[in-house]
Amino acid sequence: MKQQRNTRQREVVLQAVQSRRDHPTADQLYLDIVRTYPRISRGTVYRNLKILAESGRIRQIQVPGADRFDLRTEGHHHLLCIRCQQVADVSCPYDTAADRQVARETGFRMIHHSLLFEGICPTCLAREEKSPIS
Ligand SMILES: [Zn+2]
Ligand SMILES: [Zn+2]
Repeated sequence: MKQQRNTRQREVVLQAVQSRRDHPTADQLYLDIVRTYPRISRGTVYRNLKILAESGRIRQIQVPGADRFDLRTEGHHHLLCIRCQQVADVSCPYDTAADRQVARETGFRMIHHSLLFEGICPTCLAREEKSPIS
């Protein structure tokens, strides 16, 4: 019974990640899930996110502020707006040759590498031009 419940909870958490395209935080996912499953705990959501990320079914992205979760598991890079904290995918190509080179040089078995581009998004830029901060 317990096993079944765990599997069910993991599927619910996985579906929550897969239903968003905006790289949500664990907390945002918890708030999504609790609307449909009011009895699920924050700890359960966090624990299942960790298990899903470790097993490679989703990706956990280290971002200043709070880690994000991504339904896309293939190598790709991200763009962070330092004002509104939104995270988006960027189209610049993933360099698999770099992974091979680092593996060759260090003996590591590479999983992936990640690049985080940081800047200010057009919406935040427009807002700042209207009401300059400094
Ligand atoms: Zn922004
Ligand atoms: Zn992504």
